[in-house]
Amino acid sequence: MKNKTLSLILMAAGSSTRFNHVLPKNQQVKKQWLRIHQIPLWQKVLHDLKALYDFKEIFIGADAQSLRYMQKFCDDAVVICGGASRAETLRNILKEVQSDFVFVSDVARFNIDVEVCNNLLKDFEHYDCSVPYIDCVDTILLDNTALNREQIRLIQTPQISCTAKLKECLSQKDYTDESTAMLEHGHHIRFIKGSAKMHKLTTIQDLHLLNHLPKPQEMSFYGSGIDIHPFEANKPMMLGGLHINSPVGFKSHSDGDVILHAIIDALLGASGGGDIGEWFPDHCKEFKNISSALLLEEVRHFVVSVGYEISHLDLNIIAQIPKINPHKKALQEHLSKLLHLPKHCINIKATTAEKMGFIGREEGICVMAHATLRYSNWKEFLCKF
Ligand code: MG
Repeated sequence: MKNKTLSLILMAAGSSTRFNHVLPKNQQVKKQWLRIHQIPLWQKVLHDLKALYDFKEIFIGADAQSLRYMQKFCDDAVVICGGASRAETLRNILKEVQSDFVFVSDVARFNIDVEVCNNLLKDFEHYDCSVPYIDCVDTILLDNTALNREQIRLIQTPQISCTAKLKECLSQKDYTDESTAMLEHGHHIRFIKGSAKMHKLTTIQDLHLLNHLPKPQEMSFYGSGIDIHPFEANKPMMLGGLHINSPVGFKSHSDGDVILHAIIDALLGASGGGDIGEWFPDHCKEFKNISSALLLEEVRHFVVSVGYEISHLDLNIIAQIPKINPHKKALQEHLSKLLHLPKHCINIKATTAEKMGFIGREEGICVMAHATLRYSNWKEFLCKF
């Protein structure tokens, strides 16, 4: 029975809807990306789990949007795209697992109890599934009937399961955890005393559980973006998400909004998220003539969800035509809405090219954007909720 291999699976694909829906749009961070000093919460949990055991492989379940970004943070783990449910994410990961057993943990249970984990790891190979639980101290009513709380167990994670048996159990339907799936299929379960310390971070009110950890480091991140487009006759001109009255628009795969494209690259630059071409390739039919406001919203949502707040935006618009000054106020107001950023945090500068070069010859325009980000400060949320 000895020498059975064990892989670590960290579930970090949640959308955090129950957690962040009460926050303003510019602060809707996913809980796995809350920063502990400079480190995202999922990385802290991964670090603590790796110290427990010499796992054969390490897998992390991530949401599709932050998959590539998360992979940049770790070389020794494979990041796998999650699904619509926890069970679907686990199914996707299990396809890649080579080990006999899997140790499945959730980022939401960020407080690792070493004693509970060591009890789980002890002789794990003798059981189909090892699971921690805590006793129920509350009275529980099912409809109007009180249940006997002596018989109730509150199930926790991490859990250790036999890979082959778990795969088979999950092939038929979704379960909220591994032990329920294994129990329903008559497999051999070992129950281990869990710990109230391993409470699940679910809502914003649970943030006090993190209070003993360091706050996000106070630092600024700067990103620049530049975009150039030539004019094209008989096309509507979109600038900063606004329709500008003009005989020409911009030649482009999308609507050609140079201002929004430069802002997208500035946001991606500051967050380390790549560039606009990686996100929205111009050979993809789905982006043909697409409104750049939709592209900006996707990137803005990503930047905020991985733990940043946008704090400032500065624009340089270099154009011979159209005249930018008459549109500055409207542009500032519209960008404020698109970015969920106060107007005073958006600065717009415009200049001509003094009739030189392609801009001076009125063939196209150039926009440069500079974005400043900071880490979302969850210690500030604690005071509010
Ligand atoms: Mg462009």
